[in-house]
Amino acid sequence: MSVIVLMYHHVLPKSGFITSSVEEFEKQMRFLYENGYKTLTSEEFLKYKKGGLNVPKKSVFITFDDGWRDNYVYAYPILKKYGLKATVFIVTEWVEKASEKQEEFKVYAHKDAKKVVPVNPGRVILNWSEIDEMKDVFDFHSHTHSHRDFYFKKEYTWDEEFFLSKEIIKKRLGFDDKHLCWPKGRYNEELIKKAKKYFEILYTTKRGINKPDKYLEEIKRIAVKKDEKWIRKQLFIFNNDFLGKIYSIIKSK
Ligand SMILES: [Zn+2]
Repeated sequence: MSVIVLMYHHVLPKSGFITSSVEEFEKQMRFLYENGYKTLTSEEFLKYKKGGLNVPKKSVFITFDDGWRDNYVYAYPILKKYGLKATVFIVTEWVEKASEKQEEFKVYAHKDAKKVVPVNPGRVILNWSEIDEMKDVFDFHSHTHSHRDFYFKKEYTWDEEFFLSKEIIKKRLGFDDKHLCWPKGRYNEELIKKAKKYFEILYTTKRGINKPDKYLEEIKRIAVKKDEKWIRKQLFIFNNDFLGKIYSIIKSK
C-alpha cells in the first residue's frame, strides 16, 4: 500500500508550464470523484505516513505549491463541487504583502506571474481573507517565509525562513505548523536537520511512492501533467507498489 501525492502549481484557463487548464483540472477531479478516491487532509497523510492511520487503497493527497491566487479563483470551486480536499503550501511573506494591498485578479502565465510577485503580490498571490474562505477545502502549510531560491531575494537565514513562516501561520491560522515544502525542491542533508527542528514532515519534488514507513524527511510527489487519462495511468502505476518502485527508479535517472 502506498499513497500518491499530486503536486500542482497553477490552474488557469490555458495549460502551460507547471499549469493545468481549468478543463484538465475539472476532468482530473471528476475522475477522482467518480472513481471513489479519497483525498486526504494533511493531518491524515501525516498520520498515515507515521503508520498510525489505515487509509483506503484509493487514497490520494493533493498539494499546490506557492499559493497562487488562481487556486482560489479556479481550483477551489471545482474541488468544492466534488467534495475533495487539498493542501496549499504558502509563502508567508507573500501572503502578508498580498493582504496589505489587494488588487483585482488577473490571469498571468507562470513566467509573468513570477515577475508580478515582487512588485504587486496582491494581484497574483492568495490573501488571508481568501485563505480563510478556502479552509473548508484546503489545509495551508509552510513553503518557507520568502520562497528562498535563486530567483527571489535571499533576505533571511534558513532558520528565519522556517521560524517566521511558522510564526505567521500560528498567528493567522492558529496552529503549530508541522509541514514544510521545499522551494524549488532544493535541500540537502544539513538543511533537513535544520528544518526538522521546526517541522515534522518535509515535502520534495522527487517522484515516487509514499509508504507508511515513518520516514518523514523526503515526501515524494508527482508533478501533474495533462488530463484525467494521465492521472489514471499515474494512479495505476504508483498505487501498485511494485510498478511504482520500478517507475520511480527509471524516471529519476
Ligand atoms: Zn514553490
